[in-house]
Amino acid sequence: MRILLVEDDRLLGDGIRAGLKQAGMAVDWVQDGRAADAALASESYDAVVLDLGLPRLSGMEVLARARATSNAVPVLILTARDTVADRIAGLDAGADDYLLKPFDLGELQARLRALLRRAGNQAEPVLAHGALRLDPAARSITWQEQPVELSAREFALLHALLLNAGRVLSKAQLEEKLYGWGEEIESNAVEVFIHHLRRKLAPELIRTVRGVGYMIAKDAQ
Ligand code: CA
Repeated sequence: MRILLVEDDRLLGDGIRAGLKQAGMAVDWVQDGRAADAALASESYDAVVLDLGLPRLSGMEVLARARATSNAVPVLILTARDTVADRIAGLDAGADDYLLKPFDLGELQARLRALLRRAGNQAEPVLAHGALRLDPAARSITWQEQPVELSAREFALLHALLLNAGRVLSKAQLEEKLYGWGEEIESNAVEVFIHHLRRKLAPELIRTVRGVGYMIAKDAQ
């Protein structure tokens, strides 16, 4: 899962980034509205955590511009102003959820998981596919009811494939979901993770679509 974090408070931004990374998310952090606007125009994100009070361009303007260009990315706004009018304005401008500062990192993570579920039209918190169960909140996997240990990036890759079951994801799309800006990507990292997943789960679970990418077929059940 790749998240754009827009927060100009360095201490808070640093803490949120660390918390989301610990939860296995790839995080790009920008500290003003113009940088957020540019990132949204050029990159594809699974969700945005957007502070409203920002230098150069306000969070509300960033949100309005994204929605005006039909960018439907789920947006959670952070606001320090506990007024009903602000929250109504944010939701009406196209935000999907909001949190009041100060907030608990665990709650932010849970709300992001809920937004990602909704974006994937998925009501159940646990993803199931044949003998596979993936629990994003517990960050746990079972295969044929046995727990399976995965690294953070193996987990993130499997999660992305499951959320997009029936669709081919290219190597570049998978890399985007695993790495934030400035994180070094080894050229064959995705192939290596896929190899590990096939070995730990089942060789036939993930299909290679030659010249295109990888996919998990839609569940037949
Ligand atoms: Ca701020």
